[in-house]
Amino acid sequence: MPRSQQEQRERNNAAQASPHIRPQHRPRCLTRQCARLRAPLSTLPPARSAEPIIDCVTTPNSTSRQPPGQTLLFDADDTLWENNIYFERAIAAFINYLDHRIHTPEEVRGHLNRVEHTTIKEQGYGLKSFRKSLIACFEQLTDQPITPEKHARIVSFAQSIADQEIELLPGVAPTIAELATRHRCILVTKGDNLEQRDKLNRSGLEAHFAAVEVLHEKTPAAYRALVEHHICDAPTTWMIGNSPRSDINPALAAGLHAVFIPHDFTWVLEHEVVNQPPAGQTLLELASFADLTQHF
Ligand SMILES: [Mg+2]
Repeated sequence: MPRSQQEQRERNNAAQASPHIRPQHRPRCLTRQCARLRAPLSTLPPARSAEPIIDCVTTPNSTSRQPPGQTLLFDADDTLWENNIYFERAIAAFINYLDHRIHTPEEVRGHLNRVEHTTIKEQGYGLKSFRKSLIACFEQLTDQPITPEKHARIVSFAQSIADQEIELLPGVAPTIAELATRHRCILVTKGDNLEQRDKLNRSGLEAHFAAVEVLHEKTPAAYRALVEHHICDAPTTWMIGNSPRSDINPALAAGLHAVFIPHDFTWVLEHEVVNQPPAGQTLLELASFADLTQHF
């Protein structure tokens, strides 16, 4: 469901009011920590922070539009559509339900982050993995057995994410449609294959992509393999996404250009310092998805 005009206006106003959002053509600042911790859980969605997740800005080498025929690799979650805010809501509900007598909500959240890190290593990304993390976290932080009722309640928090409609981020639908007329667009996401393909199907964007890749992890090696498989020419290939850890840094390491489009609620496990692009490669940071048509 597209974001309403009112929400878009509020987002724009918040962005303009924020002292942390700088004009696009300021000098680079690539050595600072680019992640901030989320807002306190009590303020999490539906409230959204006006602050960007990074406080550094990358400057385009040129404002001129790239010639047609580029290969544009698009991340999906929190680049094309909302994703992490649903997880944050589910986690807030879980912490509320746990209502731990000793640990603060922040401590519970920190423990859940660690549990998720371990679960993802074992089982990969996706709702099944998330569900397992919630149950493991509950078991580890309570000394009570999980009754069938409690188990069902915890599972319902993860299920609430699956029940969400696809909510495209502002400007995505018309921008992708336009870019696909000039360039080859490939979706490059990670996570559970069926879940990600189902989201793409429900997004209404599928027709604009020449190919879809659902990777286990977005590593430099994975990007190099993808480039080889799809016969991409590195000097005309750009990875576009919201995650420094998965979209920007590994793509730069693989010899590609990158376009960083920050999202206010990028998952904490995706936070990382944005690396400086190697010589001959370009890193752009854009304030909004719609700005892509100025460059491509
Ligand atoms: Mg993403």
